[in-house]
Parts: sequence; C-alpha cells; structure tokens
Amino acid sequence: MEKYIGRVLISREDLGKRVAELGAEITRDYAGKKLLILGILKGAVPFMADLIREIKLPLAYDFMILSSYGDSTQSSGVVRILRDLESSVEDVHILIAEDIIDTGLTLKYLRENLRARNPLSVKVITLLDKAARRKADITPDYNGFSIPDEFVVGYGLDFNEKYRNLPYIGVLKQEAHEEEGP
Ligand code: 5GP
Repeated sequence: MEKYIGRVLISREDLGKRVAELGAEITRDYAGKKLLILGILKGAVPFMADLIREIKLPLAYDFMILSSYGDSTQSSGVVRILRDLESSVEDVHILIAEDIIDTGLTLKYLRENLRARNPLSVKVITLLDKAARRKADITPDYNGFSIPDEFVVGYGLDFNEKYRNLPYIGVLKQEAHEEEGP
C-alpha cells in the first residue's frame, strides 16, 4: 500500500462490481434515447472509462473542464468553464459523470448552465457522494457509494495531482496533508 494511504475505503473489486451495476441501470433507463455522457475532467476519467463499457447502448461522450475559484480542497461555487462541449445538446439526454459530490456547488452551477442550452434532460451520476457536506440542493440521480466526510484519493481523485492512478479509493493519512501542504 502507498506510504500515505491510511486505509482502503473501497477496493478495486467493489468499484468494479458497483460500476457494472450502475452501467446496467443506465442501460435500462436510457434504452432508445440519444445519450451523451459528459465527463468532468480530470477526476471522472477512470470512472467514466469503466462506466461507458458497462453501458450496452450507443452513446457519445464529451468532456468539460471546470475551475472553481477557491483552493484545491474547498469549492467556492463560482465556476469558470475552461473547456466547453464540442456541439450543441438540444437533441440529447445529458448524463453528467462526476467523481465525487461534496458541497455540490460546482455541479449546481453546471446543471443550470446545461439546462439553459435546452437538452432533452440533464441527470447526474457520481461515483462517490459525501452528503454530509452538501451546501447546494443537489441529489445525484445515480450514486455509486455514499461515503463519510473524509478526504479520499484514488481512481481519478487526487491530492496535489497525485494518487489519481490508484486502482482503489483510499483515505489519505494526516501526514500527507502536513508534509505536502493543502
Ligand atoms: P463540490 O461538490 O464541493 O463543488 O466539489 C467537488 C469537487 O471537489 C470534486 O470534483 C473534487 O475535485 C473535489 N473534492 C471534494 N471532496 C474530495 C475528496 O475527498 N477528495 C478529493 N481528492 N477531491 C475532493
């Protein structure tokens, strides 16, 4: 195990099983619908890459890059779009794929921004939900795991850009925060 990982919160096996279940649900719910999976870079990449291969439907995917004003661990709710979608979305059902919903402020902004573009629908799938910290009125339509209020890394989630490639979700030790700064 990595030096700074205190414990594994969700194993690689459990991630795989849950992502397959979510893929099956989406396959049922979106049958016959034109689906666009919208990944939010960078954290959602491993989750999205696994999820799309569990969805047995034709689909398109695209990415957005959002930047939240505030520091790297605290979202402020004021969001800038650094990379936008490639095409218009008026004839598609959008499913936003997120790594984690924390305060929900980023997602609330994004959902409203997308709704203003008149897609057929906008729903949200998140791998992890930290509901205890919610500030915005956001409930994911699909949720992989509800987790406690701890800072997690791995499977796309970073601390200072590290740990994204861990194949599991782990809790970072306090020493990592102290030695590397926020
Ligand atoms: P919010 O929901 O507060 O607007 O922001 C969500 C974003 O905050 C996530 O996409 C992620 O980048 C970051 N975040 C929130 N909680 C955690 C966490 O426990 N670990 C990591 N690595 N990032 C987090």
